Amino acid sequence: MIKIFTHILESFQISITMSNNLFIKEFETMNDFILVSFSDETESIIPLEILRKKCPCADCSGEVDALGNLYKGPTKKLNDSSFQINGIQPVGYYGIRPFWKDGHSTGIFTIELLKELSE
Ligand SMILES: [Zn+2]
Repeated sequence: MIKIFTHILESFQISITMSNNLFIKEFETMNDFILVSFSDETESIIPLEILRKKCPCADCSGEVDALGNLYKGPTKKLNDSSFQINGIQPVGYYGIRPFWKDGHSTGIFTIELLKELSE
């Protein structure tokens, strides 16, 4: 009887963990798009140009200080190589970090952002 109870408890815990932990299963680039699939069986397909323009790093999107002033790095001129990817590095299970051909690589795209940008 005790054994059965323990077993039920274990499977209950596993199902909670699975439903709360959304993670990135796979990602790949195809032509001018990035494809990301998630553990909830959904997919994001995002044009690389949109991805780069929505880069969340402090240089691209700026940082707001305690007084609400927005600080941005020097505006970089984007060119064709800014929208091409050399490689992508996974960041834990929740994000990806693209290495752009113009040398930029500080932006980390989280699952939330990837889902938001998906067409
Ligand atoms: Zn950036």
